[in-house]
Amino acid sequence: MTAAPDSVHGGTAGVLANPVLLLGAHLSISEGLEEALYKAKTYGCNTLQIFTKNAATWKEKEPTEAVINGFEKAKAETGLTRIASHAAYLINVASAEKKKHRMSINALKQEMIRSSMLQIPYVILHPGSHMGAGEKEGIRKITEGINEILGNISGLIPRLLLETTAGQGSGLGHSFEQLAEIMAGVKNKERIGVCLDTCHIFAAGYDIRTRDAYEHTVETFGTTIGLSRLHVIHLNDAKKGLGCRVDRHDHIGEGLIGSDAFGFIMNDPRFSMVPKIIETPKIAGAIDYDRINLDRLRNLVHS
Ligand SMILES: [Zn+2]
Repeated sequence: MTAAPDSVHGGTAGVLANPVLLLGAHLSISEGLEEALYKAKTYGCNTLQIFTKNAATWKEKEPTEAVINGFEKAKAETGLTRIASHAAYLINVASAEKKKHRMSINALKQEMIRSSMLQIPYVILHPGSHMGAGEKEGIRKITEGINEILGNISGLIPRLLLETTAGQGSGLGHSFEQLAEIMAGVKNKERIGVCLDTCHIFAAGYDIRTRDAYEHTVETFGTTIGLSRLHVIHLNDAKKGLGCRVDRHDHIGEGLIGSDAFGFIMNDPRFSMVPKIIETPKIAGAIDYDRINLDRLRNLVHS
């Protein structure tokens, strides 16, 4: 059995703000939305990320009452409420192609509504690719699209988190400045924020491998975006080098970022209340890598 999350931090005298280690994984919903929560519980997680529908298709799926009830029951039974939904990868709100842009806005709106029905507090989005139309035009499309969505849904709206990206191709969101610019254009500041992915920022050129490099990157994030805007961290090691602009996740401690950086994050009091979620490679044969990677992260926490 995995140790209860509380016990990881339990013995730290004088630490008041961090009674729980907010650690989780991206988990499959192939057995049902609620099964992801029960699975997270078996890993000793108290946060997780899911897709709320098949992420590889444009097809929408509104949760039935039975699904919503099952999800609520699972939340109550597992105590898991810090849930993030990752929007479908097909979505490109920055697209210069009119049809794709409209389809993306609609899909993101449906994602926000679905997450609202399921009372999921965070929806994570890759900002998008400008496809040659240029950075300024891409950013304009993203902010307009987000304003349209946030202005047209009511009720309990999840917070939309823009994920830092590796900057492959014409992908936007690989610099903190770009994310700050998008957010500056969003009217509803209460419903927007950032998800930082360690693999992506490393691929985008932000080093976190040494204490000095880590502090410099965190400071840059703080002055450009603001640490209070950071709501979720994706913990992934990287298969490719610093600044390579290629997004390839690796197991914690086995990639080019290395264990030290994850130790800095796991023990950083500035991020103690920020959910940390792995998106590392999954099962190979009989090996359950989620359990291994989560345990590696827990073992990096200073007692
Ligand atoms: Zn990520």
